[in-house]
Amino acid sequence: MIIDILTIFPSFFNTPLKESLLGKAIEKRIISIRVHDIRQYATDKHKTVDDRPYGGGAGMVMKVEPIVRAIEALQKLPPKGWILLLSPQGNIFTQKKARQLSSLPRLILICGRYEGIDDRISNFIDEEISIGDYVLSGGEVAALVLIDAVARLIPGVVGNVESVISESFERCLLEYPQFTRPRDFRGYKVPEILISGNHEAIRRWRIKQSILRTKKRRPDLFSKAVLTDEEKAILHEIEEGNDQ
Ligand code: SAM
Repeated sequence: MIIDILTIFPSFFNTPLKESLLGKAIEKRIISIRVHDIRQYATDKHKTVDDRPYGGGAGMVMKVEPIVRAIEALQKLPPKGWILLLSPQGNIFTQKKARQLSSLPRLILICGRYEGIDDRISNFIDEEISIGDYVLSGGEVAALVLIDAVARLIPGVVGNVESVISESFERCLLEYPQFTRPRDFRGYKVPEILISGNHEAIRRWRIKQSILRTKKRRPDLFSKAVLTDEEKAILHEIEEGNDQ
């Protein structure tokens, strides 16, 4: 996958794209991420990217022209990019959306700043995405969140495919709790079953924990979960109180 990022702060991405899974995915050429400075596409000698809002009001607004010029220049090269504007007013980003985006050959992400971008940008994009109901100072952090979630769904980025499949949200069920050494930390012990060596019992325990957690912490999510026959049987045991 190719990801083009349009920003007025290109150096923002220097470190995050070098580290951990993303860094390795780029090194292995599974993903190619190119960061473009919107300022390069401004036409005046001061490379202006923002201006005062029509109608008055606080703050500055990002100009539409340099961004559209950047998009047009990028789209001259195949494959065609799916253009996403990061915005607090967009559709909320979810695991489902991350999965959809992960199958595309190329994304073009536009990061806003200041009071946002001249609204006419909506005529030049494919989708507006928000990472949550709060306001960030810029789209760069949101772009990184999106890239990270999408990248781990691209084959080869996460070494163990199993770990991606069992993760929270993949099936509207939160993942079961995880533990590592030591077995006893200040009196807080690892559940006995996990050291029993009984793989079948561990597998069923994890399903049960996943159901219990989702029901308790995210009833909204649980109401949307489509359970397998085995999960339904375990839920029935929980509800009947015979799950010990
Ligand atoms: N005045 C705008 C409003 O009230 O809708 C907010 C502008 S915000 C300070 C500046 C930029 O940060 C936005 O253009 C957008 O790119 C980014 N941004 C802020 N919050 C975001 C969110 N929740 N999700 C995605 N991008 C966000």
